[in-house]
Amino acid sequence: MKVVVIGTGYVGLVTGACLAEVGTEVVCVDVDQQKISNLRNGILPIYEPGLEEVVTRNYQNGRLAFSTNITEALPGAEVAFIAVGTPPGEDGSADLQYVLQVAKEIGTHMTGHLVVVTKSTVPVGTAVKVNRAIKEAMLERGTLIDYDVASNPEFLKEGAAVADFMKPDRIVVGVNTERAQKVLDQLYYPFLLNGHPIIFMDIASAEMTKYAANAMLATKISFMNDIAGLCELVGADVNKVRKGIGSDPRIGHRFIYPGIGYGGSCFPKDVKALVRTGMEYGRSLRILEAVEAVNDDQKKVMFDKIDRHFEGDLRGKTFAIWGLSFKPNTDDMREAPSLVLIDALLQAGALVRVFDPVAMHEAKKILADKVAWCTDLYDAAAGADAIALVTEWNEFRLPDWQRIKARTVFDGRNIYDDVMLHKKGFTYYGIGTTQHT
Ligand code: NAD
Repeated sequence: MKVVVIGTGYVGLVTGACLAEVGTEVVCVDVDQQKISNLRNGILPIYEPGLEEVVTRNYQNGRLAFSTNITEALPGAEVAFIAVGTPPGEDGSADLQYVLQVAKEIGTHMTGHLVVVTKSTVPVGTAVKVNRAIKEAMLERGTLIDYDVASNPEFLKEGAAVADFMKPDRIVVGVNTERAQKVLDQLYYPFLLNGHPIIFMDIASAEMTKYAANAMLATKISFMNDIAGLCELVGADVNKVRKGIGSDPRIGHRFIYPGIGYGGSCFPKDVKALVRTGMEYGRSLRILEAVEAVNDDQKKVMFDKIDRHFEGDLRGKTFAIWGLSFKPNTDDMREAPSLVLIDALLQAGALVRVFDPVAMHEAKKILADKVAWCTDLYDAAAGADAIALVTEWNEFRLPDWQRIKARTVFDGRNIYDDVMLHKKGFTYYGIGTTQHT
């Protein structure tokens, strides 16, 4: 089967590479010429564990190709995935201009029957708009070719995207024709071995499923962060509370870790877009409004702790920031909590020394010369008044504390043993834990 994936970002590149890995012939298309020429030279636009090997292998064996030209890519394809960005518009709704632009281009250039699948995260009703854009483009060129539209939201996690795509918890597909169902069932067959399920449903439900999933995960995070804030006030330790509640299988241990707020390209924008959809239908999603508000506050929590510790006098103080990306194993800096913290520290007149194992390159595009760029965690800590652990990369988990001169540690992810650090003479601040001074 031949497949075209339009949009070669996190989702499009992983989708294209993993489909090629199981034998599909794939062309990944993007408007970004630099990105496509880099990919042809083996340079990936993103960091994602295991992705480089899959891309290189399949590019070399000829199953994976890269192009900026949708006209050349479409002939002979049975499926076209739309995997372009859907950034938040000014009112928080998902901006569909890229998705609809691609739909129009597909309508203008398709040559035979095609299943057009939206993989981007899009609000309910987008498939209708995609359908309309394809039809109008075809009418404009005076042709009518048969096609189907489908929705196949992507659930991969950045940092584990290849593994998630190859062994999905589930594949959700929204269809309204048997033919589309058959084609997509066949395409995904190799991923369903070992019991991974494919769930077919109507298109509106599939579109909604993606938002409901991300909204639920964001809710778990904000809920725990809210409880963590209260734990600090009442003298409870959220780490113990987390273990206590997670043992109940109805709650479970996953995704109930407090921290300094969620970031990334998905949760913030998807929660906003779902709230916006609710407003359009006259229904306010009050839980999600609170989820967002709690998260905005949570991103400021670490700065508040630092500011209180230094009694509001941060001018000329130096802080080591360990970790910049919004979570470990990715270079994605979109909506990263580190940016909120660094901005507040700089505003207060502090000096900031940063290190991240992978995201330095991306972070430099945003922070430029506002911070000192360091070679490792110890270099970042050199001369610092305090350490702020922001992203829980593995290599930050067991530092050699003997090499750290700073005496104060702000742990934004509760990864350190507070009692041990206290014994070693550090002042430790976690999130929602008892403070050791
Ligand atoms: P991205 O910004 O990394 O990539 C989008 C790509 O589309 C860019 O390379 C851009 O150049 C390209 N593009 C834009 N217009 C184009 C056009 N007309 N023709 C061809 N290419 C075009 O975005 P992403 O993170 O991959 O996200 C894509 C979609 O998938 C979004 O809707 C997002 O919400 C959703 N999603 C993302 C993730 C994630 O973890 N990143 C997970 C699940 C779903």
